[in-house]
Amino acid sequence: MIKSFHPPLRTLMGPGPSDVHPRVLAAMARPTIGHLDPAFIGMMDEIKQLLQYALRTDNPLTMPVSAPGSAGMEACFVNLVEPGDKVIVCQNGVFGGRMKENVERFGGVALMVEDVWGTAVSVDKVRALMEQHDDIKILAFVHAETSTGVCSDAQALCRLARDYGCLTVVDAVTSLGGIQLEVDQWGIDALYSGTQKCLSAPPGISPVTFSERALSKVGKRTNRIPSWFLDKTLVMGYWGEGQQRAYHHTAPVNALYGLHEALVMLQEEGIENAWQRHALHHQALRDGLEAMGLKMSVAADIRLPQLNSVSIPEGVREAEVRGHLLDAYGLEIGAGLGALAGKVWRIGLMGTSCTRRHVMLCLDALENTLIEQGADVASGRAAVAAAAVYAGAK
Ligand SMILES: *Cc1c(COP(=O)(O)O)cnc(C)c1O
Repeated sequence: MIKSFHPPLRTLMGPGPSDVHPRVLAAMARPTIGHLDPAFIGMMDEIKQLLQYALRTDNPLTMPVSAPGSAGMEACFVNLVEPGDKVIVCQNGVFGGRMKENVERFGGVALMVEDVWGTAVSVDKVRALMEQHDDIKILAFVHAETSTGVCSDAQALCRLARDYGCLTVVDAVTSLGGIQLEVDQWGIDALYSGTQKCLSAPPGISPVTFSERALSKVGKRTNRIPSWFLDKTLVMGYWGEGQQRAYHHTAPVNALYGLHEALVMLQEEGIENAWQRHALHHQALRDGLEAMGLKMSVAADIRLPQLNSVSIPEGVREAEVRGHLLDAYGLEIGAGLGALAGKVWRIGLMGTSCTRRHVMLCLDALENTLIEQGADVASGRAAVAAAAVYAGAK
């Protein structure tokens, strides 16, 4: 007889999912009601308002796609890319490569701007490519590259796109809730995010928003959007205004209770305060890691506070370290991806996982584990350095 599944207790400090707050888990355990129940529709409207608050936008088309961040990505490209459209795709990590894949599958022509993994998207290279072609339709880039821990200058890239008359598609899966993100002020046209990173809601939902300009391109399409499920013009019959909602698909009712609660918590804290919290705990973690003798692998001016790439010291058996953190401390940190596999650890400080308790546990567990492995790290200094950051912040 197979028994009920009880997950082990974990502390999640990898690239997502992050720890889900007990308030959010409790919300998800409330009774399931119909997805067309008037009470549920009222909650959907609140989710939309809360997402508009978190994304800093008045876009009426702001809603959660009932599928993970990857589906939000696909929703942006499948609606906006028409066959033959030229799209500049910036790649400085894993996720830019997936954008290229999306553009090409929907018949677009991807013009790549490639930057070394661990560096930011080069605004100058994008400008040079826009100078060469006068028929670019879309600029697509990742704001916060979770695979490397790098933040690109979304504001400058969006301004550039405006100057050259093209739309923007922005991956904000890891940026939303962790660092400044301004949809309306920066003039972002289409954006997708995720729930399991800095929002600390359950995985499997993807907030998206489309500007009037983006919707106008969708409205002028002469061929059918090649996806039924992700066609925004159809989904809005369910997520649109008013009480008249038509069945499109069955919403993930309980997961949306969870997202609603996570967004309520973000609003209670205040989005700017959430950005500041991520910056503070990042400083404490960084000072602790450096006091131990470890090195951050990304340059200080482009580092993401919510995703810390740390160089693995010579001779350290990195998979063993992660295994021991998980077994002995219940602590999950991330491995390097692609070009950075075996070279870095990725330590997440996202949403509910961005607290002093998380920082201190991680420093203590990592220090002890490295010392047990015979690595050359300073003992007892990390916690002192981190505590000094907190004392200074008072
Ligand atoms: C996690 C992530 C995604 C994919 O989200 P899923 O929910 O795993 O599909 C896309 N882009 C970035 C930058 C991410 O960090």
